[in-house]
Amino acid sequence: MSVLEIRDLHVSVGEGNDAKEILTGVDLTVRSGETHAIMGPNGSGKSTLAYSIAGHPKYTITGGAVTLDGEDVLAMSVDERARAGLFLAMQYPVEVPGVSVSNFLRTAATAIKGEAPKLRTWVKDVKSEMDLLEMDSAFAERNVNEGFSGGEKKRHEILQMRLLKPAIAILDETDSGLDVDALRVVSEGVNRARSESEIGVLLITHYTRILRYITPDFVHVFVNGRIAEEGGPELAEKLETEGYAAYVKDSRETA
Ligand code: ADP
Ligand code: MG
Ligand code: MG
Repeated sequence: MSVLEIRDLHVSVGEGNDAKEILTGVDLTVRSGETHAIMGPNGSGKSTLAYSIAGHPKYTITGGAVTLDGEDVLAMSVDERARAGLFLAMQYPVEVPGVSVSNFLRTAATAIKGEAPKLRTWVKDVKSEMDLLEMDSAFAERNVNEGFSGGEKKRHEILQMRLLKPAIAILDETDSGLDVDALRVVSEGVNRARSESEIGVLLITHYTRILRYITPDFVHVFVNGRIAEEGGPELAEKLETEGYAAYVKDSRETA
């Protein structure tokens, strides 16, 4: 049982006079076995939240706290965050020249578990998950992110999540750029993780589309760097028909 707690988180980008507060007091708790969807208009700070939890150096935490099982996540290095059980897909967004998917995954699994996974079971696990994600076995020998299509990047992201078995996974715009088949396959991967383990999922998305495949327990509407409303899956349906206009207008009036 794990719990990720975000308390009154304030985050800025830029320096000196150019510093701009993006997160303006985020409060959120994600427990094992729960799926939370964060939904909001473009530019509302959703990715900033993900990057801040991931420890991206561009983002300055100016207030608040993030803890995992009571441990101070913000004091951890990026590697320590992964070892503590956080999976942040954007942690490895870049091309890794000369490192194959297969070696990359095994190195990451070794770093997280503190010992190398047994080769026979590992190879079997990678193969079976790649089959389920409808990935060609040749993909394992390609260099990480080198020339990956949008769909390949997202499948690779879910492949990592499935093999590294985190306590809490944060998935930012996992649905963006996916056609319907890829969306189904990627969503099934997330749902396998949900049914096979007590994983906690923070699913960040602009569109309601992926929520037809992955039913969230909680929906949070994110506007102007904080959560403006919370509800159950029905809130996503309301957003689908009404959009974010009401929230954006409200926040301007009260700003
Ligand atoms: P979302 O993911 O909800 O679309 P982002 O977190 O990407 O929103 O961006 C929120 C705001 O912060 C935007 O106005 C964006 O321009 C700004 N921002 C995000 N990252 C940076 C950065 N590294 N440097 C400058 N501005 C940034
Ligand atoms: Mg505050
Ligand atoms: Mg974003």
